[in-house]
Amino acid sequence: MDKNKIIVIGGGYAGLRTVEKLAKNPKNEILLFDKNPYHFMQTDVYDLIANEEDFAQVTVDLFTFCSGFDSNVTFLKQEVSNVDFKNKKIITCIQRYTYDYLVIAVGARTKFMANVIGLREYAHGIKALHRAMYFKQKFEMSLFHKVDEGGVSCTPINIVVAGAGLSGVEVAAQMASFSKEFYKKNNFICRKLNIVLINSAKNVLGGFEEQLYSKTDKRLRDLDVIIKNDRKVVEVTHNSVKLSNGEVLDMDFMIFTGGIEPNGLVQNLALDKNEKGYIVSNSYLQSQNYGEVFAIGDCTTIYNNGKVVPPTADTAEQMAELCAKNINNLISNKPLIEHSINSRGVLIALGRGYAVARIFGFYMHGYSAYIMKKLIERVYAKKLSNRSKKGCKKIFSN
Ligand SMILES: Cc1cc2nc3c(=O)[nH]c(=O)nc-3n(C[C@H](O)[C@H](O)[C@H](O)COP(=O)(O)OP(=O)(O)OC[C@H]3O[C@@H](n4cnc5c(N)ncnc54)[C@H](O)[C@@H]3O)c2cc1C
Repeated sequence: MDKNKIIVIGGGYAGLRTVEKLAKNPKNEILLFDKNPYHFMQTDVYDLIANEEDFAQVTVDLFTFCSGFDSNVTFLKQEVSNVDFKNKKIITCIQRYTYDYLVIAVGARTKFMANVIGLREYAHGIKALHRAMYFKQKFEMSLFHKVDEGGVSCTPINIVVAGAGLSGVEVAAQMASFSKEFYKKNNFICRKLNIVLINSAKNVLGGFEEQLYSKTDKRLRDLDVIIKNDRKVVEVTHNSVKLSNGEVLDMDFMIFTGGIEPNGLVQNLALDKNEKGYIVSNSYLQSQNYGEVFAIGDCTTIYNNGKVVPPTADTAEQMAELCAKNINNLISNKPLIEHSINSRGVLIALGRGYAVARIFGFYMHGYSAYIMKKLIERVYAKKLSNRSKKGCKKIFSN
């Protein structure tokens, strides 16, 4: 039986959902490539940083995950450096692999703007697990230093979060909420932790609707997060952050969540890109240039009614489902389906026990929204972990 050789690059939200769907067809032989041996659940990173979850809870092993399928899925931990589209081969530092169909699902990376002096050198991103882990440890050490200083002097620790989008507000709120409870619960005397959120727009969560940003703003202020709207970071040194209005802030460590950009692989690919460098895909999610090549998730930009669909895990998964359907349709000579993908909702965790949300057009905030967010995260993680457990059993029983 001739197999359909399908390569998926990227074991993120988009890549794993595509693999799940394509693996149902036993004629599909799928190779999944990722530069890391794990899937990193970026949507849970706020809990990782604030020590609510350890790194095992925000990752899934890709070897065991892929072994959990009925033998038609293989994982290869290799970074893809380029693609030879004409000869249908992907290129890694080890060798070249041939495909019939290719799915590019490599996400995006933190954009450290070159014109902001010192930004890349002194600020940390959180889109990669090792960076998030580093930041988590710094945060924990800061809490410890405050405890250690108790009774002698009590200077504040200054944490700067630059970028007040989804990830910036979640991280700032979670750190503020966690440290408040931590000092209170343990009756420590020295508790001064300043969390400053820098935002270039007029409101936090720029681009989101008033129902979400006004509740978020209030919650952050209730948690004593200092919000500085309408200004940009212009320079960073090892211990200070200069803003566009001339203000200079003390900084012990800084996290940068101010933007994303296409990663190195996408920059190398000889495909049509938009003005921001993302892959241009058509309404079937195929690349503009090759019908057998699909681009999904954060590495491409899609539109609905002329508006950009925000790049989220939810969008990435919806794209993955349609991409898998369209690949199966191509294989069986059926017509392709156009996308009508739109954001189904947004859930923003803002510290322990509180979230704001829009789900299918309905707004919620408080504990109920928080429970909803946790539930969605748990269900997602559980499905992957069940598959990975199955794979683990298979590997260790052989
Ligand atoms: C802190 C934070 C909080 C967020 N919160 C939410 C939220 O609450 N809700 C929500 O919907 N979205 C949220 N997002 C956004 C969401 O995480 C992204 O939209 C989502 O991860 C995109 O999925 P993806 O599959 O396109 O990319 P990713 O999940 O980034 O996966 C890309 C994969 O490709 C791999 N890769 C990259 N380059 C190569 C290469 N050259 N070779 C091999 N492998 C490669 C990477 O290792 C990675 O595993 C958040 C993001 C962050 C950073």
